[in-house]
Amino acid sequence: MSAAAQLASTAPEHRRLFFALWPDAALRARLVETFGAAAAVAGGRAVHPDNLHVTLEFLGSVASSRLAELASLGEATHLPTADLSLDTLEWWPRPALRVAGTSRPAGALLDLQAQLRLTLGERGFRVDSRAFRPHLTLAREVRATPPLTRVARLDWSLTELALVESHADAGGSRYTALARWPR
Ligand code: ATP
Ligand code: MG
Repeated sequence: MSAAAQLASTAPEHRRLFFALWPDAALRARLVETFGAAAAVAGGRAVHPDNLHVTLEFLGSVASSRLAELASLGEATHLPTADLSLDTLEWWPRPALRVAGTSRPAGALLDLQAQLRLTLGERGFRVDSRAFRPHLTLAREVRATPPLTRVARLDWSLTELALVESHADAGGSRYTALARWPR
């Protein structure tokens, strides 16, 4: 059996997918440096550095047969010249998250996400019905107001879009960028 045929025969029928802003190695290092202290919340579960991302649209379980369609959609999506200015630290009690957020989301980022959601929805993918709130999750299972840490700030320039797969792992979820589209 050829390698391709073997892969096809072992590929899962469905994958848990989302579109995200995906940091390159340099940005990932800056994220850790800037937000590492804020992520280390006592009692919470810090997001592993390799997992840091900004979700644009979560699709949930998608038939693997639709991967090519998602890849061409990602390919056709153009990132605007804009920054996501991460300038707030927030506690979102219901999902029990500590996140870095923004007090002034760039219009171009909101437009990008809205267009992506619209296109995905039109093609029959399941999209989120809640308003998009751009954020970087730093820690999960944060069940009480975390103590304040120095407010760090980082401007994330929108340089790379990715289609990401989420795998369940013993220690939580692990993400793999299946395709990356640098600007
Ligand atoms: P776990 O669910 O194991 O705690 P996780 O939330 O990091 O880990 P996923 O549930 O696979 O892993 O989520 C992947 C990404 O999509 C995360 O950024 C998550 O916040 C986001 N996400 C997950 N579910 C939804 C949803 N229903 N609506 C919007 N975004 C979601
Ligand atoms: Mg989840």
